[in-house]
Amino acid sequence: MELTLDTNIQYLSGVGPKRAALYKKLDIQTVRDLLYYFPRSYIDLTQPCYISDAPVWEICAVRARVIAKSSPQYIRKGLTIFKVKVADDSGSMIITFFNAKYTVDSLKYDEEYLFYGKMSGSLLKKEMHAPSIYPANLPSAFISVYPLTQGLSSKMIAGNISQAIQLLDENLPDPLPAFLRKKYQLCHLHFALKNIHLPADKESAEIARRRLIFEELLMLSLSLHSVRSDTFSQTSFVCRNIDLQPFLQQLPFQLTGAQQRAIEQVCKDLKKSTPMNRLIQGDVGCGKTMVAAAASFAAFQNGFMSAMMAPTEILAQQHFQSLSRLLSPLGMRLVLLCGSMTAKEKRDIKERISLGMVDFVIGTHALISEDVDLPNLALVITDEQHRFGVAQRTKLSEKSDHPHTLVMSATPIPRTLALMIYGDLDVSSIDELPPNRQPVKTYVISSKLKQRAYHFLKDHLDRGLQGYIVCPLVEAMENTPSNLQNAEEYADLLARGPFSSYRVGVLHGKMRPKDKERIMDAFASGEIQLLVSTTVIEVGVDVPNAVIMMIENAERFGLSQLHQLRGRVGRGVQQSYCILISDNKNPETKERLQVLHRTNDGFKVAEYDLKARGPGDFLGKRQHGLPQLKIADLSSNMDILMQAQQAACELNESTLSQSEQELLQQSIKRILNHVGEQLN
Ligand code: ADP
Ligand code: MG
Repeated sequence: MELTLDTNIQYLSGVGPKRAALYKKLDIQTVRDLLYYFPRSYIDLTQPCYISDAPVWEICAVRARVIAKSSPQYIRKGLTIFKVKVADDSGSMIITFFNAKYTVDSLKYDEEYLFYGKMSGSLLKKEMHAPSIYPANLPSAFISVYPLTQGLSSKMIAGNISQAIQLLDENLPDPLPAFLRKKYQLCHLHFALKNIHLPADKESAEIARRRLIFEELLMLSLSLHSVRSDTFSQTSFVCRNIDLQPFLQQLPFQLTGAQQRAIEQVCKDLKKSTPMNRLIQGDVGCGKTMVAAAASFAAFQNGFMSAMMAPTEILAQQHFQSLSRLLSPLGMRLVLLCGSMTAKEKRDIKERISLGMVDFVIGTHALISEDVDLPNLALVITDEQHRFGVAQRTKLSEKSDHPHTLVMSATPIPRTLALMIYGDLDVSSIDELPPNRQPVKTYVISSKLKQRAYHFLKDHLDRGLQGYIVCPLVEAMENTPSNLQNAEEYADLLARGPFSSYRVGVLHGKMRPKDKERIMDAFASGEIQLLVSTTVIEVGVDVPNAVIMMIENAERFGLSQLHQLRGRVGRGVQQSYCILISDNKNPETKERLQVLHRTNDGFKVAEYDLKARGPGDFLGKRQHGLPQLKIADLSSNMDILMQAQQAACELNESTLSQSEQELLQQSIKRILNHVGEQLN
């Protein structure tokens, strides 16, 4: 039988219902799914070394003949040791196997094999323990290794894949049209699938890999094109008359040059007949909210409504309060819409919106819920955009006819990546902090010095200032190491102990929204002096009177996250401090935390994070809202990404045959389903 990519894997011999169920856990149901399950790495057996040359304690491959087997040694119940002596032209070595009677029996005297494993013993008496064994005349000496999962070994997967490839039609349809493969020098799909799994040599594996990365990034680009609102269309929200004087005059401070430039750029965009698509990028505390405020005022002057979406209720609440103070005196009518409001409150607000009685609605993702109608919506602002998925942002824009969009972020991302995520967008960078800001002083200390740190904190509270202590956990949980501080217990301990004469509050994500709101209000008004919290305060929270940020178990957080947390202080004119507490002895961890001591620059922190943790983690799914990729890596495959994006544009402009068109559409649909699943 000839297989197609859509054939169910149960047609492969060796895949019965049981194994099929295991595969299903990996989301593998068809031959396509199976063949797109790529090897994690390869074992290179192409250049075996001589036994006498093989370095001790390194992993290597040796091609050797079996010359002797000793009789098994029964050490104790459940442990039998087998020794086999093998030799090549340079010398001999002993191989030890544990409880592997079947393996040892299957080794034939005087026959050659490839042994792959870690060399041990000494220079004169080499040994190997339980190596992998391969026949010496392998068709491909490049062996794929698959990520292991319960019940499915790398060998089983390799066996099923190799069978699938043998049965697969050589002329299977390729979703990449021939002209594109030619132009970008990409191999055919069949060659790619065969050589990613069973490469003849290293080069073939590379050729296959490049093609598959290209394909994945191309499909991703095309699918994002299709979910994004079309930026080339016309908008019905041209802001013809903008005069920011009333707004500027009542600001309590002078805008920085960088803020002014960003606002000018935004106003220019708003006057155009094509929708704005702009990213405001700037480190924590640089004042991005002012740009959003100015933009919403400009829309208001032209009779239009704006909406701003924030990732947490705390942040939405805070924006609502501070923006109301700023904008209500100018005649703007603001409302807040959050998921936790009562049905009646929500209904009320929705009604006011639909009656045109609202100029600026601020909220969480409740804003994109189906039944909120935003007919006159001219400007869509997304704060801390990296917390949202692509589809979520787009959904808000779809509530009206090609509105302007403004996204704000403190996470620096490379331009190509930004293009991928937002489409063809413009970027305004705010590279200047408001004046009189002193850089936050950051120290890493061990918990031995905690008492001193408490004193330091108290000194500041005594002077009327405020502080935060952040813990990694909400409340004591079973199975967590007891040295991990948790917010609830910890707050209790402090309030009864060292901080008994201070007003201590506690805040965490599991609290009822109304309670969170009450606590945040109390902290903002100074009623609470010390706020013990989890990372719910990570983004956006702005209380300038808070000057100390103490973080327990700092090693548990990523650097960018610590930088965001640190951004909660240093927002006023007072000198602020960030104290990272960690007893972790690992030199790498210590070095990582020291980066924060050395720099206050978010870009540098992110750079270090990217290098140290690798792109997968740094640009985790939550950070950009893109689906998990199977083979491409968005930060190291930048060159291919650029080509794929160019190819996406070319495809959109080219005329394809019906069948080419269909194949492409199916591939895009598969990715979109995937994106959809991850965002719901
Ligand atoms: P972020 O860019 O992190 O969102 P915010 O918009 O929250 O920063 O601003 C941080 C703080 O700085 C706020 O308290 C805000 O009122 C204040 N601020 C913003 N712009 C200026 C300015 N030009 N001069 C002084 N303070 C400013
Ligand atoms: Mg902000």
